[in-house]
Amino acid sequence: MNRVYNFSAGPSMLPEEVLKTAQQEMLCYGDSGMSVMEMSHRSKVYESIIYGAQDLLREVMNISDDYEVFFLQGGASTQFAMIPLNLMNKNNKADYIITGQWAKKAFAEASRYGEARKIASSEDQVFNYIPKVDASMIHQDSDYVHITLNNTIYGTMFHTLPETGNVPLVADISSMVLSEPIDVNKFGLLYAGAQKNMGPAGVTVVIMKKDLIGNAMDCTPTMLKYETHVKDRSMYNTPPTYAIYICKLVLEWVKKMGGTAALKEINTEKANLLYNYLDESAMFRGTVVKEDRSLMNIPFVTDSDELNQKFIAEAAAKGFVNLKGHRTVGGMRASIYNAMPVEGVKSLVDFMKDFEAKNK
Ligand SMILES: *Cc1c(COP(=O)(O)O)cnc(C)c1O
Repeated sequence: MNRVYNFSAGPSMLPEEVLKTAQQEMLCYGDSGMSVMEMSHRSKVYESIIYGAQDLLREVMNISDDYEVFFLQGGASTQFAMIPLNLMNKNNKADYIITGQWAKKAFAEASRYGEARKIASSEDQVFNYIPKVDASMIHQDSDYVHITLNNTIYGTMFHTLPETGNVPLVADISSMVLSEPIDVNKFGLLYAGAQKNMGPAGVTVVIMKKDLIGNAMDCTPTMLKYETHVKDRSMYNTPPTYAIYICKLVLEWVKKMGGTAALKEINTEKANLLYNYLDESAMFRGTVVKEDRSLMNIPFVTDSDELNQKFIAEAAAKGFVNLKGHRTVGGMRASIYNAMPVEGVKSLVDFMKDFEAKNK
């Protein structure tokens, strides 16, 4: 069977080149005589993989020495708890901007540990826009402000960051990490589950300003303190060794592609192909306010549920899979992460045009 165009929101497509390298190295990595899965995480050869991946991430994201880079487990969802446990430590207060399900979950978790305050929300319009936040809305006694930079389910993105003054900005970048340049210096902490745009499920990347580390609440489990993971460079216990190895291959690919700036150009080209068609189509339309559109996740609908179902089924039969939208939005969603080639989006748009002509 041929590989399909996989529009899954996550776990999602990986670059074919990465999969081929992994295949070649599966039985025997370098001259180690074993697969990466079989190695001690304390071996020299594995150290070259995990430290190599950390160094590459620093390079492609332009991360300064003021920041620590961690490879953790538990997904982005564990960060929803780790962040308040480690950062809500001065005034026991934090501000949350609610732009989707993931932001809501992060807020709910933080509410268990302190006073989490919802300062803005777009729930009134099923999260189809990014609420305006001006500096006066930020509580200056907050220990941090939390945002979801790209909203995977609803297809919105913050194109400008809220001004938070001296309050550290914390962002969930799960579904946009490596898709475009980010000015890391504007943030206190960034986190991402790898399975959207960086590698396989099982590893979570955290980039954290060093001066924020070391003030976790007393009740914090050892494994959930960032401090624990500084000492041994993410090797306090056994890390998800194979997932980190694949991330390293993805990071090498990102570098080879010309880095995040070059990827942003390609991602913009892909997104424009689909958005331009959605804007001119009489059958399909995007669900998001134009100025807040995501480059990575593009939800769209027709006016009929029946037609949506028909479209999803016929698309899948043609090799365009995982186009079903999230249950709270309905319709369709195309996730077009870094690994989706321009050709995949072009072919999808051609298929949509054809479907529209046949189902007028
Ligand atoms: C997928 C996703 C999550 C959840 O990630 P897990 O690794 O499954 O916990 C959180 N935030 C965003 C923005 C996501 O896209």
